Amino acid sequence: MDMYNFSAGPAMLPREVMKKAQEEFCNYRNSGSGIMELSHRGSLFTEVIERAEQNIRDLMNISDDYAVIFVQGGASMQFCMIPMNLLPAGATADYADTGVWGAKAAKEAKLFGNVNLACSSKETKYDHIPAFGEWKRTAGAAYLHITSNNTVAGTQYHQFPEVIDGVPMLADMSSDIMSRVINVNDFGLIYAGAQKNLGPSGMALVIIRKDLAERTPANVPTMLRYNTYIENKSLFNTPPTFAIYMLALVTDHFKAMGGIGEIEKINDAKAAKLYDVLDSSDYYRSPVARDSRSNMNVVWRMPTEELEAKFIKEAAAQGMTGLKGHRLVGGLRASIYNAMPMSGIDKLIAFMRDFEKNNG
Ligand SMILES: *Cc1c(COP(=O)(O)O)cnc(C)c1O
Repeated sequence: MDMYNFSAGPAMLPREVMKKAQEEFCNYRNSGSGIMELSHRGSLFTEVIERAEQNIRDLMNISDDYAVIFVQGGASMQFCMIPMNLLPAGATADYADTGVWGAKAAKEAKLFGNVNLACSSKETKYDHIPAFGEWKRTAGAAYLHITSNNTVAGTQYHQFPEVIDGVPMLADMSSDIMSRVINVNDFGLIYAGAQKNLGPSGMALVIIRKDLAERTPANVPTMLRYNTYIENKSLFNTPPTFAIYMLALVTDHFKAMGGIGEIEKINDAKAAKLYDVLDSSDYYRSPVARDSRSNMNVVWRMPTEELEAKFIKEAAAQGMTGLKGHRLVGGLRASIYNAMPMSGIDKLIAFMRDFEKNNG
């Protein structure tokens, strides 16, 4: 039976990548050691970390004005590192309150400076991205923080807010990094926990405009300073070597697929198919505003919670796991990151049609 894992993260990785990692696991390139056993300063691992960085630069078209670094602690560590480095005491940062992850990021920032919620869709359970015209932004803010894809509620920005007066825009792209073409130059900093689209959990990819890393106050500890990672090429201490190796393999694979533009087309087609099912039925219902729908996390409700539970159970028995919605939202959620093939979408849709017929 074909198995498809629809969980939100850690999530499915490309099958080919998992196979390759398995082949190389115990004996990396005839070195006699596995990748986890190799020195992070030896030539074999140096090639891996340099390739990971170069792949990311090529795939996202990143200029030399930006550093690409690997930081432990996942996306959540960035919630505090960002204000520690970029929000001086007394200054104000703008946060877009579009989901639970963004709210957690804002909470950390309050430990260091003032936080202005530039917009919020909390009252309607984060079911949309508020129109930019309604945002109340701070003149001269230290930065603006957004969450490009809201993993829990299933919303996504399809345009980004304008940069005003040079206020840097910072984005948590944990659940849609490398799923679509973006212009890195629109952002001061982009970060993403790796476990949704890029590889293993526990690490964040951070892309930061180098001049911003000069703003860090003197009393920020070494391991929490962006410049420590930039100056030491993410090798100040022992980095998570296996996670970086997997990231190199995953980005090799993205390149082999033809790059992000090609991947985006497939992602658009995958999501469109699923939303078509939701739109053509009263049985399945999307709670998300149409113009804010996520192409990565497709959320829906069914007539009763009992039917939802039955759906999740029967889908799992047929090889489709991880479909239970986040506990804050309920219902169903199909996370369809880059590694989810079209065959997984087709199988899910066929199951949805059958389920409706049998339980309508
Ligand atoms: C999953 C997720 C996080 C949390 O990532 P961790 O690596 O577990 O800290 C943060 N932001 C978004 C948008 C996410 O989807």
